[in-house]
Amino acid sequence: MKTKIVVASHNQGKVKEIKNLLRPFKFEIYAASDFDIKEPKETGKTFIDNSIIKARAVAKKTNFIALADDSGLCVNLLKGKPGIHSARWAGKYKDFDLAMRKIEKQLSKIPSNSKERYRAHFCCALTLCYPTGKIISFQGKIFGYLQFPPKGLNGFGYDPIFIPDGYKKTFGEMNFSFKEKISHRQVAFNKLKKYLIKL
Ligand code: IMP
Repeated sequence: MKTKIVVASHNQGKVKEIKNLLRPFKFEIYAASDFDIKEPKETGKTFIDNSIIKARAVAKKTNFIALADDSGLCVNLLKGKPGIHSARWAGKYKDFDLAMRKIEKQLSKIPSNSKERYRAHFCCALTLCYPTGKIISFQGKIFGYLQFPPKGLNGFGYDPIFIPDGYKKTFGEMNFSFKEKISHRQVAFNKLKKYLIKL
């Protein structure tokens, strides 16, 4: 019998990416939306804290292994903001055009000519929580810079303003499967994979 695993996210973009990443493993994969589970309050101070909160809530409610992701965009000159509040910056209507404009506006207030002003990275924390309460976490990052105005219609969230180092296109311009191969989520997932293979 396949082991059941629940992707503890209500964000359809992330659920799609994580389900794809888990495909090579023999799991029966569910999403939090397959159960009647409310999103817990993300009260942590770090991406790892928040991924633990989400994974714990789902493992407790379903009695299955839960895999949660907490991720976001950290802008150097904004002291790491929006960071763990990346989703919150888009407001209640999840308006990421608004969130991207907010970043551009805040950056424009800081005098600097160099390309350094646009340095940023995406960070992803992944936590597995077992029904027993056992927790294991992994973290991945991808570094790059921001470009305005947003470009590209693929992806989600802040993808249209982020260009990873070594590339000329934003995540929003890259096709989904290519982004998935190099993303912060993939970096964290590669660490998780090494753990899953050993099980
Ligand atoms: P949370 O992890 O559910 O708190 O949400 C993190 C937010 O960060 C998402 O809603 C996205 O806006 C943003 N984010 C995380 N990963 C990515 C990504 O791969 N591309 C674009 N935005 C992302």
